[in-house]
Amino acid sequence: MFDRLQGNGPIKELLRHMLAHGRVPHALIFAGESGVGKKEFAIELAAALNCQERTPTGEACDRCPSCTRIMNWPTENQNENRIIWSMHPDVGLIRPPGRFILVEQARELAREANLNPYEGAARTFIIDEADKLNEAASNALLKTLEEMPHTSYIILVTERIAALLPTVLSRCQKLRFAPLSSEELAPLIQREKRVSAEEARTIARLARGSAGRALRMDWEEERARRERALAILEAALAEDRARLLRLAEEMSEAAHKEDLEPTLDWLTLLARDAWLFGAGADEQIINTDLRARLERIAARATASRLVRWIEKIDEIRRHLSVNINRRIASDALLLAMASG
Ligand SMILES: [Zn+2]
Repeated sequence: MFDRLQGNGPIKELLRHMLAHGRVPHALIFAGESGVGKKEFAIELAAALNCQERTPTGEACDRCPSCTRIMNWPTENQNENRIIWSMHPDVGLIRPPGRFILVEQARELAREANLNPYEGAARTFIIDEADKLNEAASNALLKTLEEMPHTSYIILVTERIAALLPTVLSRCQKLRFAPLSSEELAPLIQREKRVSAEEARTIARLARGSAGRALRMDWEEERARRERALAILEAALAEDRARLLRLAEEMSEAAHKEDLEPTLDWLTLLARDAWLFGAGADEQIINTDLRARLERIAARATASRLVRWIEKIDEIRRHLSVNINRRIASDALLLAMASG
């Protein structure tokens, strides 16, 4: 059932409607940002089309042998140059093994889509990263997309719909997926990453509505960087120069070299959040799990001082791109922050 997937209520409604009326288009494009569940929706649709015990709304039961096999995909030892089959012999996918989807992959898919189902009701194929179909691979699919057999479906999944050829676009029905709201995303993050509800909402906002981005994020590492950035802001406000120089050293140390720019990003984000707290613009704040500490910073630093900090951080970021000494730059930045 679609409700096991996060967000995109209108798409769920539309797919239910299509399923209930037997009007699922045979060539579909699922377009939208990365990590909003496009492929999961495609697999759920493939399950619904083959389910042996569909729900009254026409959806997959998620439990019958057909559904369970369609939701079960091999995890390794796949020849990426061929169709990757689920445990169900009528549901498969192709994805680019390199920069592009190969013509042979497109040809194999076209051939298989023209066969009758082996055991289910609908042969269903997913083309992941369909924007990687180059002209030759696209052309190998055109005839099939135009004259799809009644028992076959192809779902093209893409983050970059504009990169598809007009000849492919015109043959498919397009469904556009929206980013998830932080409320929709937070329960999933909390479950997968074992963090508090407040932290899960912060991660959701940082990931800008993409479950994929949120789950890929190394939150332990980001949280450590954020903690260092927070310590810098607090030491700058206390004008604790000794502590600032220690933090600057830590920030520019060889071991933390890759940390410098992400730490600068965190400094900007936290200064911005403190500024928003001061301005009472709560709904735009990202790090709501740090409310108490950010409010203290907002209470002690004036709005204009926070803006000056953000400008100084931008400046050092520009200097870093011309390869200045990281240690000197970090010292200069942190001491400048302490003095106003
Ligand atoms: Zn089922």
